[in-house]
Amino acid sequence: MTTENTSLDPRFSKVLFTHEQIDEAAQRIGKQIDAEYQNSDQVPVMVIVLKGAVMWAGDVMRHIKSDVEQDFINVSSYHGGTASTGEIKLVTPLTVDIKNRDVLIIEDIVDTGLSLAFLKRLFVSEMGAKSARVITMLDKKAVRKADVEVEFAGFEIEDEFVVGYGLDYKEIWRNIPFVGVINPEVI
Ligand code: 5GP
Repeated sequence: MTTENTSLDPRFSKVLFTHEQIDEAAQRIGKQIDAEYQNSDQVPVMVIVLKGAVMWAGDVMRHIKSDVEQDFINVSSYHGGTASTGEIKLVTPLTVDIKNRDVLIIEDIVDTGLSLAFLKRLFVSEMGAKSARVITMLDKKAVRKADVEVEFAGFEIEDEFVVGYGLDYKEIWRNIPFVGVINPEVI
């Protein structure tokens, strides 16, 4: 994990991952996906979890050479603050029929794991997917509450509230081109 000087941007106390580092992680995972799914009899469905996974999904998609179908889902698991509430709601459903398909869930971050456990259960047990694996940019492994497997992770991070590269603070700063730790003086 790198720490860069953010003296130019008082909203952050440090940069954890630059755009270049994130893109390298996406490339590493893209190669793994190609190797694992190239002989599949069906094209896997990438389900991008709105809103936070959009930037990361763009990177991952550019590095996957094999065919993938794409869809979006929106779940809400916390309400604009800095801590997960544990309550998960489906905001917008899928449009693709995933029955008997391999699903790759694209997430920004797995924190408690409750959202991911909810999605895997929904896709496999309720919607009949053949498999549901996750490609997450960040994995806060230490704070996991749900017993859920994280198959592909860009980076493992400690328990601190991060923003940027899709991750928001009160619905803003998703457009910041790096993952950083928020300056406690601004919240
Ligand atoms: P869960 O706790 O269910 O694993 O994570 C649910 C959601 O909480 C994530 O998809 C993300 O939107 C949000 N979240 C968890 N940790 C952080 C964080 O450090 N920063 C931001 N901005 N959102 C987070």
